[in-house]
Amino acid sequence: MIERIRCACPRCTIRGIKGPAVLITLGVLFMLGQWRGEFFAFRYTWPVLLIVLGLIKLAESLASSEGHGTSDAQTPQGQGQ
Ligand SMILES: [Zn+2]
Repeated sequence: MIERIRCACPRCTIRGIKGPAVLITLGVLFMLGQWRGEFFAFRYTWPVLLIVLGLIKLAESLASSEGHGTSDAQTPQGQGQ
């Protein structure tokens, strides 16, 4: 059985948001492209994806890593501090 190892520190929490945020942004951009063709076509709006990713990375680097690796979940050897 594979148990998911998850750290509860702010930095890791923000890191975990990255995937869903990219998917949601992609969905919104494609939806805008469908609704409002020309001006909101994906070929013009794709840089928004880079901005979203950049903002998440920025938030990740600014977030505290206090308590990193100290959740109740077992941490692999060498990962804990
Ligand atoms: Zn962490």
